[in-house]
Amino acid sequence: MKLLFEKSVQGRRCAILPTCDVPETALPERFARQAAPKLPELSETDISRHYTALCGQVHGVNSGFYPLGSCTMKYNPRIDEEMAALPGFADIHPLSPAHAAAGCREVLGTAKQYLCQIAGMDDMTFQPAAGAHGEFTGVLLIKQYHDSRGDKGRTKIIVPDSAHGTNPATAAMCGYEVVNIASAPDGCVDLDALRGALGADTAGLMLTNPNTVGLFDENILEITRLVHEAGGLCYYDGANLNAVMGVVRPGDMGFDCIHMNLHKTFATPHGGGGPGAGAVGCKAFLRDFLPRSALMEGGNGIQVRSFGGNFLVVVRALTYLLTLGREGIPEAAQNAVLNANYLMSQIKGSFAPAYDRVCMHEFVLDLSAFKKEAGVSALDVAKALIDYGMHPPTMYFPLIVHEALMLEPTETEDKETLDGAAAVFRTLYEQGHSDPAALQTAPHHTPIGRPDEVQAARHPVVRWEAT
Ligand SMILES: *Cc1c(COP(=O)(O)O)cnc(C)c1O
Repeated sequence: MKLLFEKSVQGRRCAILPTCDVPETALPERFARQAAPKLPELSETDISRHYTALCGQVHGVNSGFYPLGSCTMKYNPRIDEEMAALPGFADIHPLSPAHAAAGCREVLGTAKQYLCQIAGMDDMTFQPAAGAHGEFTGVLLIKQYHDSRGDKGRTKIIVPDSAHGTNPATAAMCGYEVVNIASAPDGCVDLDALRGALGADTAGLMLTNPNTVGLFDENILEITRLVHEAGGLCYYDGANLNAVMGVVRPGDMGFDCIHMNLHKTFATPHGGGGPGAGAVGCKAFLRDFLPRSALMEGGNGIQVRSFGGNFLVVVRALTYLLTLGREGIPEAAQNAVLNANYLMSQIKGSFAPAYDRVCMHEFVLDLSAFKKEAGVSALDVAKALIDYGMHPPTMYFPLIVHEALMLEPTETEDKETLDGAAAVFRTLYEQGHSDPAALQTAPHHTPIGRPDEVQAARHPVVRWEAT
């Protein structure tokens, strides 16, 4: 596809500027351009078609099934966008005096109240801009807590090997030594390994529950009890909260602080690296270490971002909470779990689940046997799915499952979509045995099929130079 610059035709215009109603004055020579800027010259139709065509080359929740595990790519109701676009919210200046931003303060206060209720926490900050940023903030709470007690010997954070990569990265960024513990064969925390890792040097544990293989750790009360007994604190990675919101509370599981990815669980479209919010909640004893922002009371902790965070993401989250309500929130979680279990049950006659038991909102397939039989990898299957109008699932994560495909259908898909997806998986399973080459060279119907992933990541061509 040609770039706008390449489609440019000299002299073509579509802007009609209003007549100038102030006296025209010549710019001083030193401020004037030496040459006209090389802007593309196009008609409105050219521009409209260009962006519509670009739009057709990407896959979003509005174009088809998007079961990207661990990311919760669910449909976000349009009303959330409408509320975030209201001028009183969209145009507020972060330095507005409190009395001029009363409505915005009320949004923050109400969202905090509801989200604290869902998390089982006592206080919250909206400053962090993403989940990973929230982890960083939460682990700083843990650090400030130990420091405030003069407890200097706690240098280690325990992270299970199934954790999202941001967990160990966060602990290391906060200056901690990361202690990795192997998961038990059932995919959950190995209690003996945990006991072995705990000690007087333990600052805390980072955990997500349900975990990254989509399983609820039934030993959670024992896990958090053991950590507390050793003097450590428990951090909850709330990226998987979609499975349990309104059903169980991380605070009741024994966690001391938590982040929630508002852009995963609470209705902000994401995936393009756009604005997010990692709301960080904590129990009352950590409150004083929260960052403070102009529009929201807080503690005296470390500021992690300018102003109060991505406010409009909080507006979307609050709209979502208010539209679903006390009944709708747990219902969404339950439907997410039902959909995942239904899809797993329909696929498991072909591709094998890594853990064949009731899952939460997502599940992991293990394609290592299939690869051995058919010579077709998880990557090949993921690529082939694109030809069927499906976004590939998360691949090769979590690292503890080889040839992993991780599917999260979310609550907003209907039975027909799930049946259709399961049929595609069964077809690909059979095709893998009858015509493996077709999968090894897939996709066949996309503008780009198999870019060199290293080149694409390390040397992307994002600049066009005018000749
Ligand atoms: C997405 C995710 C994160 C990180 O959240 P971001 O908002 O992408 O920074 C952390 N843990 C898990 C389990 C996740 O799925």
